[in-house]
Amino acid sequence: ARKAALSASSGPGATSDGHTVPLLANIGGPGDVAAAVKAGAEGVGLFRTEFLFLDDSARAPSEEKQTAAYRQVLEAFPQGRVVVRVLDAGADKPLEFLTPADEPNPALGVRGLRSLLDHPDVLRTQLTALARAAEGLPVHLEVMAPMVADRADAKAFADACREAGLHAKFGAMVEIPSAALRARSVLQEVEFLSLGTNDLAQYAFAADRQVGAVSRLQDPWQPALLDLVAMAADAGRAEGKSCGVCGEAASDPLLACVLTGLGVTSLSMGAASIPYVRTTLAKYTLAQCERAAAAARATESAEEARAAAQAVLSGE
Ligand code: PEP
Ligand code: MG
Repeated sequence: ARKAALSASSGPGATSDGHTVPLLANIGGPGDVAAAVKAGAEGVGLFRTEFLFLDDSARAPSEEKQTAAYRQVLEAFPQGRVVVRVLDAGADKPLEFLTPADEPNPALGVRGLRSLLDHPDVLRTQLTALARAAEGLPVHLEVMAPMVADRADAKAFADACREAGLHAKFGAMVEIPSAALRARSVLQEVEFLSLGTNDLAQYAFAADRQVGAVSRLQDPWQPALLDLVAMAADAGRAEGKSCGVCGEAASDPLLACVLTGLGVTSLSMGAASIPYVRTTLAKYTLAQCERAAAAARATESAEEARAAAQAVLSGE
């Protein structure tokens, strides 16, 4: 029992019956690495690279500056997995050198991968810096694009990665409902999916993530959001490819169990949440998580979904 308690407070994420779900950290730069390592993160599931560039948003940082920052992060997880997201500029994260200033609806405009495809030089520099940073390291580098809408977006990103000579897995974030609906098509072009549930909720519910008045619709327990997660996870399973979650949803311990039950293959969150998610996940079997997920999806509201999952997991 002591051994079980120990493995629940450190070590890899897993259900009580040993179904592993890697617990990864969301970071914004090398400054976040120490906390992630301390929390026992098995790697990085989302490196939000745009945070490196906020100090001077007027120009793209040099390849050298980027290489040095990426190298610092990659070195911290020698055998681990590090998933780097290429620049996600625009909407809630504007960068002067990429983001058009005159859009009526920036969240629906040229942001994320769209701005990188409009500025191929910026994407190329970032991918080249990543390739250089990973040289000679045993790390499992994975690179993903934000705001992939369809298969064409996924292909454009994969082509750019190949052209840059990057030895990494290429993935697509699922944060636009069209990508969840057609996840199997997207997976014809890339090797993994990562659900960004913050934006996925924003776009599924037409509810701006920065507007508090519509926060009810941003609740990641919304059954419609769980349906979209299930679609992407099912597509991953059908294609034999991984489908993780890197949005805030993963940091809610109870919801982490439900996401596991829906079939997601890894959970990435702020470092502070990792110990809580690890401990909670270790209490339940995969079958219990699956039953909790089914019960949550069978409801009509976020509140009911939460209560239904709780009832299943506490054996009521
Ligand atoms: C998300 O949208 O859920 C996500 C992980 O990306 P970000 O919050 O950086 O937009
Ligand atoms: Mg997002």
